[in-house]
Amino acid sequence: MKKTYSLPTTNYRLTIGWLYPDLMSTYGDRGNITVLQKRCEWRGIKTKILQINHETTDQELNTINLLFGGGAQDKEQGIVIESLRKKERALKNLVENNIPCLFVCGSPQLFGKYYEPSEGKRIEGLGIFDMKSIHPGPKKDRLTGNIAARLEIPGFTNTLIVGFENHGGRTRLGHSVKPLAKVLKGYGNNGEDGTEGVIYKNALGSYLHGPLLPKNPEIADWLIQKALEVKYKKEIILSPLDDTLAKKAKEMIAKKLGVKL
Ligand code: GLN
Repeated sequence: MKKTYSLPTTNYRLTIGWLYPDLMSTYGDRGNITVLQKRCEWRGIKTKILQINHETTDQELNTINLLFGGGAQDKEQGIVIESLRKKERALKNLVENNIPCLFVCGSPQLFGKYYEPSEGKRIEGLGIFDMKSIHPGPKKDRLTGNIAARLEIPGFTNTLIVGFENHGGRTRLGHSVKPLAKVLKGYGNNGEDGTEGVIYKNALGSYLHGPLLPKNPEIADWLIQKALEVKYKKEIILSPLDDTLAKKAKEMIAKKLGVKL
């Protein structure tokens, strides 16, 4: 007999903003949106996905409870930044008002002070993250491969995160931001100082594709919990989900990379 499952229902609703899905989604980054949607759905939290493009208005941006941006190659970054600049004030407000955000690879570079692409002019960023990124040129190695790191998010310190990185840009953090994680294996922000990603308020930047959230559901739940807490102005405790498969995947990668869970 076919089993039927009934999902719980709540009155919670979240609008998830997704930056330029057609221009910014490398190495499976769109999987992060699926994870956010599913982990909400399994807990009875309704979601609406707002795909952000050139036409999106500030009024629409103001409805966002959780913001996601994926990676992009240098060429697409040059196109996106022109459009992002028109939305600069609304996007800054979201971050300053503690809206949780996740930006992967090419998008945190654009939310930083600047990104110097492999060829051509420096791209001035939105300056929301105090960080600078420089691509050392087409002849220099890209920072590519599996990566393992330990989270630095308060409450999650020491949690292992794993993913796949592929970037030319080298990022250096300024004093008003903190790294998202400390690298155990792989390159992270620049392959030199052991930092991976960035945290400012509830906005996270990371170089981890893979995509990030299916392999590291702790981060997905952190984002969902923050989004609900900011919207509903109360403490939220999310019901646990069965993450056996994600845990097994992480175990396997940890073993392969020779790091402890
Ligand atoms: N263009 C950027 C770099 O190479 C971002 C790449 C990406 O998003 N995967 O650093």
